[in-house]
Parts: sequence; structure tokens; C-alpha cells
Amino acid sequence: MMKMRPALFLDRDGTINVEVNYLYKPEEFEFIPGILELARAAKQAGYCLIVCTNQSGIARGYFSEEDYQRLTRHMEHLFAAEGCRLDAVYHCPDLSGPLRKPEPGMFLRAAEELHIDLAESLSLGDKERDIRAARAAGVARNYLFTDAPLPADSCATAAVADPRELIPLLLRKQNA
Ligand SMILES: [Mg+2]
Repeated sequence: MMKMRPALFLDRDGTINVEVNYLYKPEEFEFIPGILELARAAKQAGYCLIVCTNQSGIARGYFSEEDYQRLTRHMEHLFAAEGCRLDAVYHCPDLSGPLRKPEPGMFLRAAEELHIDLAESLSLGDKERDIRAARAAGVARNYLFTDAPLPADSCATAAVADPRELIPLLLRKQNA
């Protein structure tokens, strides 16, 4: 039996890269400050690095699956060049269904395919639907990336204004 590993699950738009509506052009991809430091720390701490991203722009016809894959390769190359190779990138091209956040399908698929211990994993996303999807899958600690205070109805563990705030939490095991 393969050993289970924890993961850091990241949303893409507005979490890894600066939000651009229906981004698909590599030249418009710009990292959010601190995300690469967090990614490197996660890899060093033994976490899988997994991206789960809704990409309804494909279903809406704003860009193609091929456009999406081109941008994904660009992003993967940038992460690898910074010493934090992504273990997997999942996307949902549809407008609805079990893979589209806030549904947990992408997280569950990742857990199965990469042998992820969800109870020891963390997630970071800039929308409540990111939090709800991760939580529904069983991810234990889920952080909302926002400058604002955590909304009263949020399911998130806490709000973080900078991705680097998660670095000390990577070393603190949930069930220790
Ligand atoms: Mg987002």
C-alpha cells in the first residue's frame, strides 16, 4: 500500500495568479506575491502541491481547452523553475457538475490518484466556493485568501491576507 501524503491544494485565479477575467494568455499570467514562497515551503515540508481550478471559460467559449492547456504548461514551467514543481493540476471546464467547485470532485479525484491524506491537508482559495469544495472533500484546514475579515457565514478555518501566513501552519500537523 502506498504511503499517504498531505497536500497543499491551491485555487488558481486570484490565489496563484492575479485575477484576470477568463485568463488564458501566458503573457497575462502574473504570480501573487508570496505564493511561490508558500509553494516551496510546502514541497520542503513534504506536501504534494495540487491546483484545483474551475475553468468555465471553456464551456462558455471564451477560450479553448488547448488555450487552457497552454497556460497550464506555462504555469507548471514557472513553478518548476522556482523549485516547487506542481504534482498535479485539475480543472473543471463545465458550468456545473460534480467536479465544479463548490462540489468536491476535483479534490476527491486528486486524493484517490495521488494518495492524499485529506485530513492532514490544507487548502487556499480566494472564493468561498473553494473553501466549501475542499471542506466537503474532507480537507481539514481551509484558508480564504482575502484582505477583508472572514465573513461570518464562511466555512474557512481563517482568512489570510498573504499566502506566506500559511508557512508556519505547514509544520503543525492537524492530528499531532
Ligand atoms: Mg479564484
